[in-house]
Parts: sequence; C-alpha cells; structure tokens
Amino acid sequence: MRSWTKRRGMLSKVVCNGCGRELKVENGILKEGCFEGKQVFGYFSSMDGQEHCFDLCEDCYQKMIARFLIPVTKREQTELDG
Ligand SMILES: [Zn+2]
Repeated sequence: MRSWTKRRGMLSKVVCNGCGRELKVENGILKEGCFEGKQVFGYFSSMDGQEHCFDLCEDCYQKMIARFLIPVTKREQTELDG
C-alpha cells in the first residue's frame, strides 16, 4: 500500500500488505526490495473493471512464491533501476 505527499506527489510511505510492516522510504525513494502488484481485471474476469494494487516486502514475496508449484522465472538484470 503506497501513499504520496499531497503537494508534490512524492512517494511518502510504503506498507507491506502481507505483514503490515512499513518499508524504508527516503526522499521519495523506496530503499528496500519490494514487490509491487498491480492488475486491472477485464471483461473475461469475474472481477471485471476492478483494479487491484498491493505491495509485498521481500519476506512476504518469498513466502508467496514458495507456494508456487512452478518456480518463478529468473533472469539476471544488467542494469538495476532501484
Ligand atoms: Zn511483509
């Protein structure tokens, strides 16, 4: 769950939806690993027209993918954009 400052629209707060922990944000920049989930469900979904957003800290992300039957696809990124 993300909050932004009203005046400048700067990222002010990120809370993990899984465990409720507040992640480290400094000067509008998220300073730790976070999974940002965002999905708009369309016509073929029972949730048609809904947008779902959530954030997970690394611990909660690891727990989520540990339940997958098929592991996530991993690729090495040469350039990280933070
Ligand atoms: Zn968490």
